[in-house]
Amino acid sequence: MTPLLVDGAGHTLMSSRVGADGRETLAMTFDSNPFLLHHAILAHGLVEWVTKGIYLGEYRVYLTPQADDLYNDDDLFGGGSYRMKATDVTALQTWQLAIQAIGGNAGFRVAFPFNGSFSTLLDTLSIALTPVSPTYNFINHTWTHQNLDTVSYNTALTEIQRNDNFGRSHFLNYSTAALVTPEISGLLNPNAMRAAKDVGVKYIVSDTSRPGWDNRGRTSGSTARSSPRSCSSRDVPPTCSSMSRCRASGQTSTTRSTLRSGGEI
Ligand SMILES: [Zn+2]
Repeated sequence: MTPLLVDGAGHTLMSSRVGADGRETLAMTFDSNPFLLHHAILAHGLVEWVTKGIYLGEYRVYLTPQADDLYNDDDLFGGGSYRMKATDVTALQTWQLAIQAIGGNAGFRVAFPFNGSFSTLLDTLSIALTPVSPTYNFINHTWTHQNLDTVSYNTALTEIQRNDNFGRSHFLNYSTAALVTPEISGLLNPNAMRAAKDVGVKYIVSDTSRPGWDNRGRTSGSTARSSPRSCSSRDVPPTCSSMSRCRASGQTSTTRSTLRSGGEI
């Protein structure tokens, strides 16, 4: 018997064994289903083990990249700041078309959490983005990128509502139901969550650096019914924009949403 997966206490969780007649057996001491993390990690390996790597099909991971802070600028390492330019829109469009041209990638789209207050009518970025905006998805990221950890109800409402108005009037692929709060803030501030709910937000990015806030199955990970709920890629109702991030790294894991237009990312 060969242990393949062992826990910290030395217990064997998976093992393989070769019988006298040469047949191999793989044993697992746990159950699996598509909603469990260990299944997501191990399932592909099981297929590889059974088939010795020879099978029809392929292993595929779906994700939607999110580029935060559209219209806003950000600090540059070494000083100064950078804001997306019209030429970046063109370069992104070229890149996204190339990605979509790869087999199976036709539905791939970049999603932009946006801060509408930094857009102006004569802004060259806005002018460049408008004609190609139907090829991207857009997510409310508050009007001024305000941290929502300690704000009042009225401040949170203004931040979310003004940006929602902007999104609904500018973008085809936008839904009021989804919100990415700046720096994943406000999730423990009842004022912010109540304001989000009152605007119509149903799904919100969670903070995976907190225990229990990572991607969970359909039956767990939700917040109180009166608040927007965090959700994961395996917890996706038809109108859910699901995102899960680590506050420390800013990394985003698997995302998927179906937006007002019916387009899917
Ligand atoms: Zn941001």
